[in-house]
Amino acid sequence: MPLEQALEHLLEAAARAPISACEVVALEHADGRVLAADLLAGCDLPPWPNSAMDGYALRLEGWNGEPLAVSQRIFAGTAPAPLRAGTCARIFTGAPMPEGADCVEMQENTEVLEDGQVRFTAPLKPGQNVRPQGQETRAGDTVLVAGTRLGPVELGLAASLGHAELSVRRKPRVAVLSTGDELAEPGQPLAPGQIYNSNRRVLISWLQRLGCEVLDAGILPDDLALTRARLQGCQAADLILSTGGVSVGEADYLGQALREGGELGLWKLAIKPGKPLTFGHYAGVPVLGLPGNPASTLVTFALLARPYLLRRLGCAEVQPLRFKVRAGFAWPVAGNRREFLRARLEGERAVIYPNQSSGVLRSAAWAQGLVEVPEGTTLAEGDGVYFIPLSEVLG
Ligand code: AMP
Ligand code: MG
Repeated sequence: MPLEQALEHLLEAAARAPISACEVVALEHADGRVLAADLLAGCDLPPWPNSAMDGYALRLEGWNGEPLAVSQRIFAGTAPAPLRAGTCARIFTGAPMPEGADCVEMQENTEVLEDGQVRFTAPLKPGQNVRPQGQETRAGDTVLVAGTRLGPVELGLAASLGHAELSVRRKPRVAVLSTGDELAEPGQPLAPGQIYNSNRRVLISWLQRLGCEVLDAGILPDDLALTRARLQGCQAADLILSTGGVSVGEADYLGQALREGGELGLWKLAIKPGKPLTFGHYAGVPVLGLPGNPASTLVTFALLARPYLLRRLGCAEVQPLRFKVRAGFAWPVAGNRREFLRARLEGERAVIYPNQSSGVLRSAAWAQGLVEVPEGTTLAEGDGVYFIPLSEVLG
């Protein structure tokens, strides 16, 4: 199945199961959350005309260019008196313009004479160095649309308009399940044949950054009865996100449990890493089963699970940003699946980690992003390729 088709299925399913409940939270708790209603400006920004410079405010109209006496000093945070005719006002950046003044000259283009009058040494234009009222935003403007994911800049924008709280979608509850008899948690001794569970850590931290409430469902041994019971125990979740046990191996019980207790979709994605993917539900709770190899988990979460979750929260923009760079490597043999290579940028060239095995999480720790090599394509060094920054999808 092509990636686009899988994504389309997932986004349609997400749109049918929106997490639409809202809550009002203080700005300090709104980082990473999704705005539930359009944010309208309740005032103009700036709220009054103000100076963009440290300098002198004056009225050009009717002025003959002679030096002017300074009639007041206007600091940011004060309310000025109207400008007395035939004078100028000392003014500082961000201070309100006095009524009657129509421009500001920066202090570098002035000279204070012995008698305290100010001489203006450069030509002046009406409105110069003045930030007009409402230049950025007019009262009533929609500054952020519902479905926007809030980050530092959006929160700053809300703060600039005086909002102390925002209405956001409630956090999705995501149960994280790591399947595999071989898994042990860090801190525990390893029995023969065991490895440490890394996917759980990756997914829990990532989901928390994404604004989800994580229900840690722990390690699930490869056992049908236990699989059923654990899925049943996750009924409070909006999504059960599992790793491993979704291929066609003999110890892959997730599919079997879903087939019996819900619905199973088993997709063979035309991407590498990350071929097998399960999407279905157990007793009505959506289940997304990512492949267990750590690099596969990472790629499928970034490209499929993340957009799915964001769409359930009503986000319009769910696809990661990607842009063209030059390949800093050759790709002489075309593959039949689209490859997402862990890569770093060296200038405008993307260089790839030498070991692209889907089991190697170090490749992703080294990488700054994923380079997309389309199926059926060979590349020479210098050819254009898409780059998806990890900083984009991990946030
Ligand atoms: P599976 O999809 O269960 O066949 O697992 C594929 C590969 O990923 C196997 O080598 C597993 O040992 C490994 N794997 C599965 N789950 C995890 C996990 N949570 N952490 C680290 N490696 C895992
Ligand atoms: Mg397994």
